[in-house]
Amino acid sequence: MKAPVREIFVSVQGEGPYVGYRQAFVRFPKCNLECLYCDTAKDWDSNKKCMVEKTPGSGDFAEEENPITPGRLLTIAERDPKIHSISLTGGEPLLYGSFIKELKGAKYPLYLETNMTLPEGAKDVKDVVKIVSGDFKLKAHCDFKNQYEKYFNATARSFSILRRTSFRDCFCKIIVTPDLEKEDLMHALDQIKGTISALVLQPVTPVGPVGQVSPKFVLDLQTAAMDVVEDVRVIPQTHRMWGCL
Ligand code: SF4
Repeated sequence: MKAPVREIFVSVQGEGPYVGYRQAFVRFPKCNLECLYCDTAKDWDSNKKCMVEKTPGSGDFAEEENPITPGRLLTIAERDPKIHSISLTGGEPLLYGSFIKELKGAKYPLYLETNMTLPEGAKDVKDVVKIVSGDFKLKAHCDFKNQYEKYFNATARSFSILRRTSFRDCFCKIIVTPDLEKEDLMHALDQIKGTISALVLQPVTPVGPVGQVSPKFVLDLQTAAMDVVEDVRVIPQTHRMWGCL
């Protein structure tokens, strides 16, 4: 099996409890959602090459044929012997669940960054990913086109499938936007509280029409969330602060 990959590069994780760890990032194209604050390019056509950064942080890329095999992907992603893990990101990597399943021979832990709305993909990868950074998308985040409940239930199902075990860590990341409803947050936490090691509240990075959130608003949500989940942290996007990928 082969899959298209947009880019592969080495950087450090910029979000969540693993912030600062050096990772090889594998960015898949396309996504099944359209979040209001999305900063990832959506355009993609099958003629595009996979861009591979030659030296970490250089911005100098070589072209690699697409689609790519699991073996070739691992050969590239594992070139840097200092990485902590391989981040599978997007777009939405669970669109390629059966491909990711074939990465089981990876020498480094697979770290999955996902919107958690594709439980069939979650089933495909549950035995190969060691760390799951799972978003829970709430009403304020996307236009669900009157299908919020369907996505909500699919997300809860994915957390159940990819829940924290002795084999796998799983934490939840929720983006805090100015119009996020505390009620929606608490409803989501009720569904997933037994499945995660931590909740990360990530104040949205203001982009386009999305404005900044106040510290009081975020701290109030943290107070409420700590009644349900023991470990609740507020961690903004750090890679944006120092301009790395
Ligand atoms: S799930 Fe991620 S990649 Fe997809 S639209 Fe939302 S922010 Fe963008």
